[in-house]
Amino acid sequence: MANHLTNADLHSHSTVSDGTLAPEALAALVAEAGVELWALTDHDEVAGQARARAAAHAAGLDYLTGCEISVSFAGETVHIVGLGFDDTDPALVQGLAATRAGRLQRAREMGEGLARVGIDGAFEGALRLAGNPDLITRTHFARFLVEAGVCPNTHAVFTRYLKEGLPGYVPFRWARLGDAVGWITGAGGVAVIAHPARYRFTPTAEYALITEFMQHGGRGIEVVTGSHGVADVVKYTDTAREFGLLASRGSDFHSTTESRVMPGALPDLPGTLTPVWVALEHRIERAAPRRAP
Ligand code: AMP
Ligand code: MN
Ligand code: MN
Ligand code: MN
Repeated sequence: MANHLTNADLHSHSTVSDGTLAPEALAALVAEAGVELWALTDHDEVAGQARARAAAHAAGLDYLTGCEISVSFAGETVHIVGLGFDDTDPALVQGLAATRAGRLQRAREMGEGLARVGIDGAFEGALRLAGNPDLITRTHFARFLVEAGVCPNTHAVFTRYLKEGLPGYVPFRWARLGDAVGWITGAGGVAVIAHPARYRFTPTAEYALITEFMQHGGRGIEVVTGSHGVADVVKYTDTAREFGLLASRGSDFHSTTESRVMPGALPDLPGTLTPVWVALEHRIERAAPRRAP
């Protein structure tokens, strides 16, 4: 039975969005790292799910379906992770397609913004690096600018060019919070607020996010994730307990060179919390038991 010590990694990206490894290669790396329960959570797309599930099972990993939906809320982009849903659900699949639409045009405008500060060919360069052109992201621009020698690493590209107000930033309207949560829960899954410490919300706006998310049927929050420090884990442990939210754990792995944490290499969830995977026990797609040697 799954418990809070299960080495679950329920947040990661493949070439279907802005990761650098194909679902199969990622499954192998995740299994090698000692993860027992995995979810591939590509941005706004479930096209990698069948491949991830098959590769997970081949590697002896239990699997939960996953995705990470981009949402606009109170002037900020918020990410909602969906877990354990039916990845063929038509409303979910159509909702994600609508959320993806416009990324290519946004990317063209990002390229124009960068050209205005003397960086040519960024759109074409980012597109070349995108495994899936429908899911061209700021990450692909960041990788191109590193490749072109403009910045030493992708983090520096975000700080100098890609954050709000900078030349490569183009405002975009993502999915509505209630729609994203509805697509996930309507497909039998659980919705989870991703990396809550990364948003620039006042306490009032954060309270509004959590309460509206729960009113729409959202049930979980990431407590242990690649971008959370020790103080963030303490803070969101309290938040999960205060609101009665299920807790999730995931590396948010994108690539071996860019990610802060390798898959599975995260602190355990505090024992005072209910892991989201305990509530999703019935949705876990189990690998065949290993035969005794
Ligand atoms: P987009 O959905 O196109 O706005 O791109 C968002 C992606 O950019 C996120 O999913 C992260 O992978 C990446 N990202 C955001 N902020 C940073 C940062 N400061 N450093 C590196 N990558 C980042
Ligand atoms: Mn990403
Ligand atoms: Mn995210
Ligand atoms: Mn992510």
